[in-house]
Order: sequence, then C-alpha cells, then structure tokens
Amino acid sequence: MISNIQLIFDKENEGNQQNFVPKMDIDQTELDEILQASLLRKDLPIPNIPEINIVRHFIRLSNKNYGVDTGIYPLGSCTMKYNPKVNETIVKLPGFTRIHPLQEENQGCLGLLYHISKQLGEITGMDGFTLQPAAGAHGELVGLLIIKKYFESKGIKKQKIIVPDSAHGTNPASAKMAGFSIIELISNEFGEIPLDQLEFAMQDGDVAGIMLTNPNTLGVFDRQIKEITRIVHENGGLCYYDGANLNPMLGICRPRDMGFDIVHLNLHKTFSTPHGGGGPGSGPIGVVKELIPFLPIPCLISTENGIVCREIDNKSIGRIKAFWGNFGVIVRAYAYILALGSEGLKKVGQIAVLNANYLRILLQQKYILPYNRICQHEFVLSDQGIPNDITTEDIAKRILDYGIYAPTIYFPLIVPGALMIEPTETESKQSLDYFIEVMNKIYEETKQNPELLKNAPQNMPVKRLDAVLAARKPILHD
Ligand SMILES: *Cc1c(COP(=O)(O)O)cnc(C)c1O
Repeated sequence: MISNIQLIFDKENEGNQQNFVPKMDIDQTELDEILQASLLRKDLPIPNIPEINIVRHFIRLSNKNYGVDTGIYPLGSCTMKYNPKVNETIVKLPGFTRIHPLQEENQGCLGLLYHISKQLGEITGMDGFTLQPAAGAHGELVGLLIIKKYFESKGIKKQKIIVPDSAHGTNPASAKMAGFSIIELISNEFGEIPLDQLEFAMQDGDVAGIMLTNPNTLGVFDRQIKEITRIVHENGGLCYYDGANLNPMLGICRPRDMGFDIVHLNLHKTFSTPHGGGGPGSGPIGVVKELIPFLPIPCLISTENGIVCREIDNKSIGRIKAFWGNFGVIVRAYAYILALGSEGLKKVGQIAVLNANYLRILLQQKYILPYNRICQHEFVLSDQGIPNDITTEDIAKRILDYGIYAPTIYFPLIVPGALMIEPTETESKQSLDYFIEVMNKIYEETKQNPELLKNAPQNMPVKRLDAVLAARKPILHD
C-alpha cells in the first residue's frame, strides 16, 4: 500500500505534512511498562504526503468500486440487498465493541445471542441453534458433522449423501469434506427432484440423508418438498436444508414445516450484513430437538441465574469456532429482525418474490428462460438463441458499461450460458426498470453491433481480461 502511494503521489509535495499519523492514545508511562524500549523502532518509513493527496487518492480508488450502495447488484444466489446503515451504528456501540467474551459481566451480549437463537428458531421452526459457524459453507460442514455423529451415536455407519444437480456448489463440497460420498440426482424439466429417482437412491442402506436448497439455484420452489422429506425419513435418512436462500421464504414458509431436520442460514445474505468481499459472515445452524445434543459447544442455556454457557456434552461434535462466532454480524441480524418484526420480515419475502417475477416476465420477452415458472428470489436466463453468437460473458461485460453490476454467470451448470438474476426486495421499481432497459438495449446491440459486445467492457478502468493467459501465467503482484 505504502509503495503504491509513493508511486502515485506527486513527490514535490513531500515534506509539507508532518503529522497525519494520529497521536498515540496510550499513556507513555503505561506503554513503557508494556513494551520494552528495545522493541520500539526509532523511525517508520511512512512517506510524508499531504493529507489532501491521500484523500484524493483513496476517493478516486473508491469511486472505481461498485457496491449495493451504488446501484442494483443482481448477483443471483448472493442476495446482495441494501443493508440499513443504522445497523452499522448499532454494532459500533461500545457495549458491543469494548467487551471480551472471557470477561465475567457479559450477560447483555449473551442475552442477545440467546434471543436471536430463539428468533431464528421461530423463523425456521427449529428447536435449537448454534451461532458459531462463520459462513454458509462452514454451517453446511457443521450440519453434516452433526448428521455423521448422530448415526455414529446409534452405532450406524452411513457414508453417502444425496445432492441434486440444482444445489449450490458448496453442498457437495461440504459433504465431501465431512467424509461423505455424493449421489447426484438429476432434476426434471420443472427443475424439481424426480421422486422415483429419490426413492431408488434411498434404497441404498448407506445413505445418511439429503442436502437440499429450496428454493434451489434455479429460483424454483420444489412443490413436492413434503414428499421428498417423507421418503428420506421413511428410509432412515435425515434432511438438511441449505437456507442461504431463505430471503423469499421469510415469514411465509419454514424449513421445519417442509420436513427438514437441520438448516443453515446465511445471516450475511438474508439478515443484512454487507458482504461480497470475503468479509466476516455468519452461518448459524438450526436443528430439531433430537439433534440438539450434537450441536457444537459451548451452548447457551437460560437458567434462574441468567444465561449460562454449557461447555460439556458427550454427544457434541465439539468446538468449531473461537468464542461465539462472528459477533458483529449477529448483532446486525438481531437489529434487523427487531426493526422489521414478523410482519416486516414477511414483506421482505413477498417483495423479493415480486421483484424477481417482475424482471422474469419482462426479460423473457427477449431472453430465453429455460425453466419458465413462477420463481422465488431469482431466475436463470440462458444465452441460447442470442444473435451473432453473443455469449453470456459478452452480455455480462456490456452490462458493466451501463454502470451496473452483472448477474451471476455460468451458474447453475444445468442451464447453458446461465445468467442468474436476483434483484432482492430493496430495489425500487425505477431501478428494476432501468435494469430491464439496459438488458433490452444490449439485446438490440447483439443484432446491430455485436463487435461492441465482443470487446466489452468499453469504458471500465480494466478492459476484458485474457482469461486463458490469466490462468496460465498469473501475475499475483504489481
Ligand atoms: C451463498 C450460498 C452458500 C454458501 O455461503 P457462504 O457464506 O458463501 O459460504 C450456500 N448455499 C447457497 C444456496 C448460497 O447461496
């Protein structure tokens, strides 16, 4: 970073500014006690550059960024919704930031963790929760380890998990990491699970259960969901629900009522934490009563003496994260749930579905929609039949030229040249209409000026990258 600043800044100005590094806020005598003088450096090679240059440099860089605070971010399967700024203020309150999980007086924070576990229980119908997993995929792994331990505790060894081809990519990866092998089910023409294939697969006595994303990555709700969970249960399996896509289900439909035993949620998608840059996430796991003893330790329980933490349980899969997980993400989710209440959450679900269907109906006038059904939070277009061999990649790059972010591309794999679009409930009709206008303009360009698309983006700071060269000869530093 510092070398960048040195390269970019006008060296003439060096020396004008003496003190942009903030003064130390620790008392010198205190510091002397903590740090020996021999450990301290005499000078730091920080360039001496006027504050205004630094500010302009970083503002210029930040203007090149795109985020949900800039405009629509229709990245399917990611729920890039607007995150209310008040949650950022709340999470910075000293009661949440100037506390350590090992200090004794922390009933406030433990109470928050306890209450949000109950709220998530109400939202999903589950009996017990752990808030420790740091992401959706981490939650999946924890859920699968619970399934494994559950069967082991009964003296049964089961080594396979059923995962449909419409699942999120993390599902088979997590199952594999937990030591299972995967049986893939091929979706039917409605994007749903063929029951006869499921029944057949469950005949294999080695199957521990199924992992399902519902609505799946096509944005399709499996109408036979209760049949599916019944078949799995009747054959001795457990049902795992990937709840990263819970946004359209909020207040409308609960994984427990669909027949699931374990669910993970993505607080950083559904419950309003800024995400996308690989920052902290939170993937709590909810389970039915029978599986509560297998949850990671420590667990929180409410007693006459307040909320206490239970450290020991023979059946628990053990500790999976330091302390209580990514606390800041959990605080934001708590504030979000309290602010919206049950009616507000239901409205989130309804508008997420309405917005996605509004786009689906208007965009399929030009683009091909292979699974043409009422969708939930998202839907998937294909680049088949687009004039002049224009591909999904060309369209995605051209979208950037119009100042908006592109949808998820080439996923799910079951749609050729997929463009997976999820607008979320926080986009206004005006913003959705602008997206449609851009997509229609691009469609006209595919007929009239295909070269424009093949060389897109035209006006971004970085032009089309040579993906092959980047993979073969990556330059990993500047
Ligand atoms: C995002 C997502 C995941 C993975 O969540 P991470 O927090 O990125 O690990 C899993 N399943 C679905 C359906 C998702 O959309």
